[in-house]
Amino acid sequence: MYDVIVIGGGPAGGSAALFTSKAGKKTLLIDNGKSVTKRAWLDNHYGADAISGPDLVEIGKKQAEKFGTEWVEKSVSDVQSVDGKHTVSTEDGESYDAQHVLLATGMLVNVAQHIGVEVIPGTEPRIKNIIKVDEQGKTNKEGIWAAGTVAGVSMHTIVTAGDGAKVAINIVSEINGERYVDHDMIK
Ligand SMILES: Cc1cc2nc3c(=O)[nH]c(=O)nc-3n(C[C@H](O)[C@H](O)[C@H](O)COP(=O)(O)OP(=O)(O)OC[C@H]3O[C@@H](n4cnc5c(N)ncnc54)[C@H](O)[C@@H]3O)c2cc1C
Repeated sequence: MYDVIVIGGGPAGGSAALFTSKAGKKTLLIDNGKSVTKRAWLDNHYGADAISGPDLVEIGKKQAEKFGTEWVEKSVSDVQSVDGKHTVSTEDGESYDAQHVLLATGMLVNVAQHIGVEVIPGTEPRIKNIIKVDEQGKTNKEGIWAAGTVAGVSMHTIVTAGDGAKVAINIVSEINGERYVDHDMIK
């Protein structure tokens, strides 16, 4: 049983997994390798002085794995939710259980639509549909959250990564029953 399963390993999902695993939450990230960020060149990501999208995503993956995220390359086909437990199924027939599921599927809402998560028209350029979330990142289904492009934020890596972190902090806070903060000091 995972505390959190993140679906999507772009900046939003990778950043979320970094925060949840660093907070000690058992985290699985499932990604099928279709991040639009793999086509991007980034001259506007604060703190990273010109970096390719693939490099940003790869560094983010290593950061998340360093803190314990299990990162697997598969396609999610379904999420079944019963009594607070979510079972995430992949196209190869495997399934994984979690307390919380975070949808970070970029421009794709097919999984969300398939499992009954409410989808609304997008407002950002070239984004047709997004998942309806509240200010915390919660969808209409208990324990299912969304972050990044698929949750309607501006489609820039600094924003999507930040939104993934924001929603992850909200998930960790809900699990812990108090607001969570992750600050390290210079040693
Ligand atoms: C050509 C191009 C240039 C860009 N240039 C810039 C720029 O200069 N500066 C900037 O800030 N932004 C730029 N962007 C935008 C930036 O890449 C995105 O805004 C942002 O990174 C999206 O992050 P995300 O995590 O929401 O989505 P994505 O990076 O798309 O990640 C979503 C992930 O979900 C996975 N996924 C989806 N469905 C499933 C499923 N069923 N099962 C498993 N995995 C699934 C996909 O494989 C993907 O890895 C550019 C984008 C493009 C396309």
